[in-house]
Amino acid sequence: MKNYKLLTPGPLTTTDTVKKEMMFDHCTWDDDYKQITQEIRRDLLELAHVSEEEYTAVLMQGSGTFGVESVLTSVIGENEELLICANGAYGERMADIASHAGIKYQIYNEHYNKVPNAQKIAEILDGDPAITHVSMVRSETTSGILNDIEAVGKVVKERERVFIVDAMSSFGGVDIPVADWGIDFIVSSANKCIQGVPGFSFIIARRDLLEASAGKARSLSLDLYDQWKTMEVDGKWRFTSPTHVVFYIRPDV
Ligand SMILES: *Cc1c(COP(=O)(O)O)cnc(C)c1O
Repeated sequence: MKNYKLLTPGPLTTTDTVKKEMMFDHCTWDDDYKQITQEIRRDLLELAHVSEEEYTAVLMQGSGTFGVESVLTSVIGENEELLICANGAYGERMADIASHAGIKYQIYNEHYNKVPNAQKIAEILDGDPAITHVSMVRSETTSGILNDIEAVGKVVKERERVFIVDAMSSFGGVDIPVADWGIDFIVSSANKCIQGVPGFSFIIARRDLLEASAGKARSLSLDLYDQWKTMEVDGKWRFTSPTHVVFYIRPDV
């Protein structure tokens, strides 16, 4: 991995050297900026232990919640249904997103001090063929509990459902072999373990499933497929991007 300029998450404080980086003008259309976007996308795939043939990374304006909302509202179609496995506030937020967007969903709630049980999830899926997608938080930041996405990914894949993971406070902090664990979409943001300043989230997605989501999005600005299509051309973001935030976490060249 290349070295990134490190900041504290939040951020609570930033160093003078990082602040000085902000004294330059950058634009969504600049060639070097577009190139940096592409480098970050490639580096994220490396961090996720996935190949560029099978997976792709998409950067999305907004905080982490925007990234989660982008995935849920872009990849779950009208006739599909989501099972949310929740054991804390961020799991519950996914239910909030789904209900606002009119996405069909069920919630399997666990106590805050218990991880969602893979066997229980297998039983729910076996009993309900209407469920097409399963979502879960890796590290439930509110309690600090680390959920077993490996075990859950296994039962979800065995049953050929799509697995979505919110890895906001874990990606880049704890290792996540995304492909090996059967994760189809994983979301994190610039300002948690990656330690950038707030301003964008990112999604690592299985290419075939992202392709299959064309036209499903319920939101214009959070349309994951459209964002990817535009970014894939040459690294330009679809709408104005948080340029200085992106420069902050650029690979040190
Ligand atoms: C921080 C966090 C979010 C929300 O991110 P925001 O940047 O506050 O929108 C979602 N899920 C988890 C697990 C988080 O830690």
